[in-house]
Amino acid sequence: MTICNFTPLAREVLEKRYLARNYRGEIIETPDELFSRVAGVVAGADRLFDAGASVRKTAARFEEALTSLSFLPNSPCLMNAGRPLGQLAACFVLPVEDNLESIFQSLKDSALIHRTGGGTGFSFGRLRPSGDTIFPASGVTGGPVSFIQLFDAATHLIDRNRVRPGANMGVLPVSHPDIRDFVTVKRDRRLLGNFNLSVAVDDGFIACVKAGRDYPLIHPRTGAVVDRLSAAELLAEMARSAWETGDPGILFLDRINRANPTPVIGRLEATNPCGEQPLLPYESCTLGSINLSRIVNDEAVDCEKLESLVHLAVHFLDNVVEVNRHPVTQTEEWSRMNRKIGLGVMGFADMLILLGIPYQSERAVVLAEEIMACIQRSAVAASGELAARRGNFPAFHQSVFPARGVKRRRNATLTTVAPTGTISLLAGASSSVEPVFAFEVQRRIGNEIFMDEHPIYARYRQEGRPIDPGIFQTAWEVPPHWHLKIQAAFQKYTDNAVSKTVNLPEHITEEQVRELFLQAADMNLKGITVYRDKSLPDQILSACSLK
Ligand code: ADP
Repeated sequence: MTICNFTPLAREVLEKRYLARNYRGEIIETPDELFSRVAGVVAGADRLFDAGASVRKTAARFEEALTSLSFLPNSPCLMNAGRPLGQLAACFVLPVEDNLESIFQSLKDSALIHRTGGGTGFSFGRLRPSGDTIFPASGVTGGPVSFIQLFDAATHLIDRNRVRPGANMGVLPVSHPDIRDFVTVKRDRRLLGNFNLSVAVDDGFIACVKAGRDYPLIHPRTGAVVDRLSAAELLAEMARSAWETGDPGILFLDRINRANPTPVIGRLEATNPCGEQPLLPYESCTLGSINLSRIVNDEAVDCEKLESLVHLAVHFLDNVVEVNRHPVTQTEEWSRMNRKIGLGVMGFADMLILLGIPYQSERAVVLAEEIMACIQRSAVAASGELAARRGNFPAFHQSVFPARGVKRRRNATLTTVAPTGTISLLAGASSSVEPVFAFEVQRRIGNEIFMDEHPIYARYRQEGRPIDPGIFQTAWEVPPHWHLKIQAAFQKYTDNAVSKTVNLPEHITEEQVRELFLQAADMNLKGITVYRDKSLPDQILSACSLK
């Protein structure tokens, strides 16, 4: 049996966020019991497909993967499996149509989802622009930005007493007449604290930027061109806001839709809060991440172990789709139709350190591609095997797969690289595919500050091993372009998107941010998010010295 090996920070996170509590708020389980609870509930789905399935054996395999911190599902799964809420997915997208019924229905649905720890994304692109007339009241609307504030206020209220503050993504197409208000709204730092914002750009817009041309603003209700803007100037405004506050990011919507597995059913217009999961309205997705530091043995990658973990993870996540209890009926229907799952990674930077490879190197790019290609290949095989026993996902015949000669697929998408913001703390791993933020770090969790030393760095120090700065590289030391190269390497073999924050040094210029946005457009990425050091007063992470 594997013994859990938690860092001190992981123990804090467990107590604050994950371990089950009774109605008096007292912790009522140990970490071992948590993993056993999650493994048991998720393995239980096997019985739905095979009456003779040995649920106990599957549960033991799941439990071993969780306890050894080799694979972890997203936070809601750890928090809610076998608990009263029972909602296990991290990502949802809800529709926002241009009428009050739709707006307030999704406002209510998002509140119900936030209560379970899920995050929500919305495209506000269908809403008529500010100043437009409302019938029959003969008044005027405040436009998308005013309605985003409404969703933000509701999130704030719902989350006042929760350990996991709510998270939303607001998307607006670059052609919306209110795009300038959207791009600049967060420069007022009091606004939209619970929203990440992304501008959805298309290939035509990027072509206009490059050619120095204007592009059309289109009224979403009438389809009429109401104005033209300089594409280069708008991109400069976006870069200025992102330089100032980190928002907005960009979604490359044409690229996202070229990878849409069910274009006949609908176009992808929005993602979950951190941008890694494009979804149709009412779809949800459960994410899970393999801890890459656990597949390094004797300074080499253990490919067999990786493959077997991927099979286990796909089985696990497909079971989650089955046992998930949704607070909103439509999300259950839509999520079961495409059965999207998102398997990704954490601990990539740790893996590089263990292998002695600098993050900023072609070797790291090649390794990133090899690892993700292996995960994608194994996940396709695993989903095909599941489909042979359980059937294809219900919308299979409306998907792109039959035309590609694919016979069996249990899930419309398989891979997503999530930020792993909290589960990586639990695993004691570097988050997602990010370089290590700092080897000695001050971290704000809620209102508390924690000092933390990177586990591998601490071990090397204790053992008196040399700390080679080329290998122990921090996020700020990696040039921005290399962040994008690693992101692109993972994106190449990822069905959904790769969540990545390009951490920028404080002294970078707005113009450099603008250039980075353009570079990203040419690198086949699905999105880009930047964050300049110290640009927000309540930054979650800061480098510090523990000596
Ligand atoms: P975790 O490590 O907690 O599993 P991630 O940092 O990987 O989560 O984020 C994955 C997704 O989970 C996000 O894109 C978002 O959809 C959702 N999410 C993350 N943080 C929150 C939050 N505070 N509230 C609601 N949803 C969240």
